[in-house]
Amino acid sequence: MAQLSDDCFAHGGELLQTREALALISERIGRLTGDEELPLDQALGRILVEDVVGQRPIPPLDNSAVDGFAVYFDDLKSDGETELPIAGRATAGHPLPQDPAGAPVARGSAVRIFTGAVMPAGPDTVMMQEDCRIEADKVIIQPGIKRGANRRLAGEDVSSGATVLRAGQRLRPQDLGQAAAVGREKLLVSKAVRVALFSTGDELACAGEVPKEGQIFDSNRHTLTGLLQGLGCQVSDLGILRDRAEVITRALAEAAPSHDLILTSGGVSVGDEDHVKAAVEQLGSLYAWRLAIKPGRPVALGQVGGTAFAGLPGNPVAVVVTFLTIVRPALLRMMGASHLTPRYYKLRAAFDHRKKQNRREWVRVHLEEAPDGETEAHKFPRDGAGILSSLVEADGLVELPEGLTQLSAGAMVDFLPFNEVIA
Ligand code: AMP
Ligand code: MG
Repeated sequence: MAQLSDDCFAHGGELLQTREALALISERIGRLTGDEELPLDQALGRILVEDVVGQRPIPPLDNSAVDGFAVYFDDLKSDGETELPIAGRATAGHPLPQDPAGAPVARGSAVRIFTGAVMPAGPDTVMMQEDCRIEADKVIIQPGIKRGANRRLAGEDVSSGATVLRAGQRLRPQDLGQAAAVGREKLLVSKAVRVALFSTGDELACAGEVPKEGQIFDSNRHTLTGLLQGLGCQVSDLGILRDRAEVITRALAEAAPSHDLILTSGGVSVGDEDHVKAAVEQLGSLYAWRLAIKPGRPVALGQVGGTAFAGLPGNPVAVVVTFLTIVRPALLRMMGASHLTPRYYKLRAAFDHRKKQNRREWVRVHLEEAPDGETEAHKFPRDGAGILSSLVEADGLVELPEGLTQLSAGAMVDFLPFNEVIA
């Protein structure tokens, strides 16, 4: 298993643009986890670490795409109905019995055939049953079909030797199906990144507890658990760390040896009660990445022994944005993924917005269909970094680039749907 290089998060402290942060992550973090072979149904969301190759064509033999009649195209009249005797029957899994002498189906006859049944030797075209009439043991066929219609060719889905899945891709349900289709029962995937997750702050109560006066419930730990599980990580929920230096130091030192990443939220700004920074600095190294983003800004990255440390801000919206900007690509990199950035979609903004230059801003939006049928992004009216309900109402984030200072309704913007990155 690879290790993080010494001081891989070292950074001068200047304001970092998102793309610079991403470049640093790509450069400094390599694959950290080992491989494991998993049954298909346990591999969802994992990063594949092998190319998967089809050993035989799919489908293996020509077969019918419809229920109908297999015929010789050249037996059909082009200007009227054709009447053919029915010479046999082929169903999926039960081909037309072979002629003992190996002779093809007799010219001038049709074979009753069903979807997925192997084409009998001879016929080249399948008539849909909707375009046929059966009278006694004959079929009457309407004109107008094309040669080869409704016949699926061997190998038209996957040819023998084709690479169907590539190392580095994240496994989706259809990828698992594809692996099964080429006969695989297991896949070699990256082991789950082991993440130790903490929240920090004396103002936090655990869901289920009776909160003391003024306390709020710890929401970040649950948001982050969901985000981590969606990426296939193995999460150790280590609860809430109280704002006491020795408590935090002990907890981090204990968690480090058995985890690949320690992830915390809160306690990394410059307030007197923010002890996480001091604890990580004492145990290893810590660098404040001041990101030129809103919401978000300070993310603390460092190492405790050979274990990576990421300290996210405490505000619940900043947690999600900094997770998506920094932690998600870092985790994908640790698991050997080839794509670190999600896909954005262009759509029309239904709002005006002013922003600072040289800062990337993420605006929480929900989508609505405009009267002209276009999809429009509507901004959530309250945009504080602590307003978690804004994320619940939102369908995703509109990303406003560094150079922009004034957005006017009607402009096209980049939209990141949550379902692209969450789960
Ligand atoms: P901090 O970064 O610790 O100064 O926290 C910034 C803000 O986020 C404060 O209002 C905290 O109460 C809030 N906060 C910190 N951690 C959490 C958490 N786990 N769940 C909900 N809110 C939090
Ligand atoms: Mg705090």
